[in-house]
Amino acid sequence: MNKRILITGGAGFLGSHLCERLLQRGDEVLCVDNYFTGTRRNVEHLIGHPRFELMRHDVCFPLYVEVDEIYNLACPASPVHYQHDPVQTTKTSVHGAINMLGLAKRTNAKILQASTSEVYGDPVVHPQTEDYWGNVNPIGIRSCYDEGKRCAETLFFDYWRQHQLRIKVLRIFNTYGPSMHPNDGRVVSNFVMQALQNQDITIYGDGSQTRSFCYRDDLVEAMIRMMDTSDDITGPINVGNPNEFTIRELAEIVIELTGSSSKIINKPLPQDDPTQRKPDISKATSELSWSPTVQIREGLVKTIEYFENIVRNESAENTN
Ligand code: NAD
Ligand code: UDP
Ligand code: UDP
Repeated sequence: MNKRILITGGAGFLGSHLCERLLQRGDEVLCVDNYFTGTRRNVEHLIGHPRFELMRHDVCFPLYVEVDEIYNLACPASPVHYQHDPVQTTKTSVHGAINMLGLAKRTNAKILQASTSEVYGDPVVHPQTEDYWGNVNPIGIRSCYDEGKRCAETLFFDYWRQHQLRIKVLRIFNTYGPSMHPNDGRVVSNFVMQALQNQDITIYGDGSQTRSFCYRDDLVEAMIRMMDTSDDITGPINVGNPNEFTIRELAEIVIELTGSSSKIINKPLPQDDPTQRKPDISKATSELSWSPTVQIREGLVKTIEYFENIVRNESAENTN
């Protein structure tokens, strides 16, 4: 029997690749999305596949379907998008988690939460280990995302303690790759799109803040491995690539790989922007036998290729 798998946020950047991977493996995939930041285009090539189903639905509302596993990815992930309607962001994380946990409880499905390194806030422990409780501003402009995701983790662990649900919590660090939206607003897509169009590269602040960038395929592999672990493994487990770069270094690598004539400009640093971030992935290595295989230059080359096609198609449309 094929497994019936629900992916919420399945038309987004990570979700659409997860849909592809699970279909390749032989599973039945139900992709649920309200298209807030994701698009049908990301999963268009899967429509018509006999084991694929696409449903427009907002996870803030109850969902009654029969499934064996749930990957809960629904939530805008880029600061510009999650700050656009912050109340809706918190609702998506919290009501979405309650509804998906209720669904998991009724169907006895295993459920994985796409949590985030943002639960560590602006971390004072570096690199971040899972036992660090974080440094989050509860009332700032990032709080709708950070606290929403923290509350979702709380709900997962309470459903586990109270209702013995089979839960899996992954804390995902910055991930990039093909099928990111060109207007996603996160740093990799911004820099690559700017470089390809020879526009100024916008560094927020002085660019000394750090992030550790993981390639999409590595991350999705970790999600699948996590779901397949035995029931005693709940997480939270950090997943990401521990190679840390300053944002200035990232800008310079993007300029080099694209051969762009863009120049770097500085814009104001947004409030509460974390100064450093790097995962300790010892737990992922021991419990998932996982570590990233794609390093930044290789991953960026593939990402640049993807965005080059978008820029080419856009300029062809404009000349027609
Ligand atoms: P994304 O914005 O491309 O995907 C999110 C998807 O969720 C989109 O398709 C969006 O339309 C959908 N969505 C949003 N609100 C919804 C709602 N109320 N109901 C149904 N669908 C809804 O972002 P992504 O990078 O693919 O992120 C996927 C998940 O992974 C998110 O939960 C995000 O918080 C988490 N995550 C991602 C990263 C990263 O670097 N990519 C890092 C940490 C955590
Ligand atoms: N729920 C859902 N699908 C289901 C079962 C439940 O969307 O198949 C939602 C429903 O809205 C419910 C929530 O999940 O309020 C939490 O379910 P739970 O059983 O934990 O609590 P209830 O509110 O039903 O007591
Ligand atoms: N950033 C930047 N220029 C941009 C977009 C982002 O300098 O055009 C910076 C941002 O201030 C942050 C880092 O890059 O320090 C990563 O931002 P992103 O929005 O990708 O993710 P975050 O880790 O902050 O959620």
